[in-house]
Amino acid sequence: MGVENQLPYKEGLKIGDRDKNVILLKNFLFQPELLSGVPSETLEIFDENTRKSLIEFQNSANIPATGNLDSQTLEAIWTPKCPYGDTDVAAFTKILHTGWPKNTNLTWAILANPGDKMGFVTSAINFAINEWKETAHVPINFSQVSMDNAPVITVEFDNLKVRMEQEKQPWDNTMVAVTLLKGFKGEAPRRTMQVIFDGLRPWTSSGASVAITKAYDLFANMAHEFGHVCGLNHSQDASALMFPFRKNGARFCKLDDILGIKAMYGI
Ligand SMILES: [Zn+2]
Repeated sequence: MGVENQLPYKEGLKIGDRDKNVILLKNFLFQPELLSGVPSETLEIFDENTRKSLIEFQNSANIPATGNLDSQTLEAIWTPKCPYGDTDVAAFTKILHTGWPKNTNLTWAILANPGDKMGFVTSAINFAINEWKETAHVPINFSQVSMDNAPVITVEFDNLKVRMEQEKQPWDNTMVAVTLLKGFKGEAPRRTMQVIFDGLRPWTSSGASVAITKAYDLFANMAHEFGHVCGLNHSQDASALMFPFRKNGARFCKLDDILGIKAMYGI
């Protein structure tokens, strides 16, 4: 992970302050082209543009818009996020695609062998599928196939920033995984989905806090991404598995997720 991926860590910074952490904050908030060529003594200053941009971030993260780098803001910056952004409806999980015909057999495969992670990635996928089937009763069957058998769902680890640039999708440092919808969106048999995890990030099978593990919980993030596979978009309910800000250990379908599946599949 390069310097450009470092996140700010110093609590309490506000407009007028000068600190190296302000550079990290600006790297987080702004596109690189806005910062290139600016001398570091200028970058170190917490200016009005930084305050405005931080307020936009605080609004998007549903935390108080203080304009300061307070503890809640630091926590939000350090909370990994899934990049489907629009959570503008209250409560109920939004729909990402029109769902799959009931009892569809969705085939999946792991693309780009993640090496020594293979066993733990397979366990995380099986956990995610089981959670959506057993808790939310999604009426879809899943089966693992090899890449030669044209799987509908592929799961892979790659440089997420590069992939998002290729897809012309927005990217910021909090994004750790994404599910991309491919093929003709309105017609289930021709639809495929790519679940991409940032291979540059540390991943863990532990559900303990990221402050302890210093790595992201693959089971929590896999379960969230498989919610997208089932057709759900993000929820504004912070307890839901489909809430875009992901916490280690938050691996399970909650009421809002179950209601989303029920509405979508009419069950
Ligand atoms: Zn998501």
